[in-house]
Amino acid sequence: MRAYRLAAANVPDAEKAFFVADLSVVYAQHERWKRCLPQVEPFYAVKCNPDPYVLRLLAALGTGFDCASNGEINEVLKLGIDPSRIIFANPCKAASFVRGAAKAGVDLMTFDNADELHKVARAHPGARLVVRILTDDSKSVCRLGIKFGAPLASVPGLLATARALGLDVVGVSFHVGSGCYDAHAFVDAVARARAAFDMGREAGYVFSVLDVGGGFEDGNFEETAGVLGGALDLYFPEREGVRVIAEPGRFYVARAFSLAVNIIARRAGDGGEMDADQPAVMYYINDGVYGAFNCILFDHQRVQPYVLSLGGSFHVPEAAMERAERCSVWGPTCDSIDCVCAEVRLPGALQVGDWLGFEGMGAYTICAASGFNGFEVSAVVYTCGGGPGAAEVRAVLAGFAARVDCR
Ligand SMILES: *Cc1c(COP(=O)(O)O)cnc(C)c1O
Repeated sequence: MRAYRLAAANVPDAEKAFFVADLSVVYAQHERWKRCLPQVEPFYAVKCNPDPYVLRLLAALGTGFDCASNGEINEVLKLGIDPSRIIFANPCKAASFVRGAAKAGVDLMTFDNADELHKVARAHPGARLVVRILTDDSKSVCRLGIKFGAPLASVPGLLATARALGLDVVGVSFHVGSGCYDAHAFVDAVARARAAFDMGREAGYVFSVLDVGGGFEDGNFEETAGVLGGALDLYFPEREGVRVIAEPGRFYVARAFSLAVNIIARRAGDGGEMDADQPAVMYYINDGVYGAFNCILFDHQRVQPYVLSLGGSFHVPEAAMERAERCSVWGPTCDSIDCVCAEVRLPGALQVGDWLGFEGMGAYTICAASGFNGFEVSAVVYTCGGGPGAAEVRAVLAGFAARVDCR
């Protein structure tokens, strides 16, 4: 509303799109993790959303961090995190990055091929390696198995190579794929990890780390946690000194961020040229697929706007929503691929200057947004929320001496 008033008063840039990050949601997700999966230590996947306040909060809550590059490792180390709380979970790393990790004291890292073992033997012989195995990722929105993961049949050969190179292999990791909608993918994956543990013993290693990766969804988390917990009990009954870790990304942040965008242009009923199949009203907003909505292209997300203001009023009458019609929503760039919603039901009477909101915009959005065509990446406004956890979040961030807006 403040942005609307400022824009109405011609304050420059007041109509810019912006994220609202509710850090108490991240806090609540961590509580939920501890409640449902107390036996699994989360290592937050930094790539999902490297927001500095999210990282600070999770650092204070005691999670570990899954980093994929030296850039991410440095970001995390800057928070004062001990390097032992980092896993370098990229199975294919540049040699310079492996040397960088060695220098920083980051020892735990994944591999899935023999070339990587030779690289690590040269660049970081003291590394503690985790073999990333291939699992069935067919029940996930973003399948990672086409790029990473050693087939089980190749694991004995890899372990023999590691032994010959004098390397220490300490465990097994997998990733069922990002956006995993079938909890049972974890059962198959844990079973395979068990087989890989047995291969480790035959190769003369004593494995002590099981890394169950990411792929956790907000919507079915309790179910997934139950299924995973059952699989762990089944295949690792006594745990046998095995530390179980995970690399959740999306689960922690997806729901914590929402995005407010401004309608900067509108096109409706411009005559007979338009295709009759196309929605009659086209709204143009000031963030698009080159920005926050890159998640539509890269992460296969579907986004759903809701009306924040209608004709300048933030009290949107129910009746207006009932009169919703087929509309399309477009990003601000000059590219026609920049379509946010090809068809969505919205009031046709929204005006230039009105605001739309999008919820669940925290995962794989800001981190991959570009400034294509001269449009800036939308800024983030922070809140500690009003609900449970707000006080704790405030205290934690005050500890970091962070300047955070906590209303
Ligand atoms: C991307 C990624 C994750 C996080 O996945 P989510 O689906 O966001 O939980 C975890 N581990 C690795 C190795 C990844 O590449």
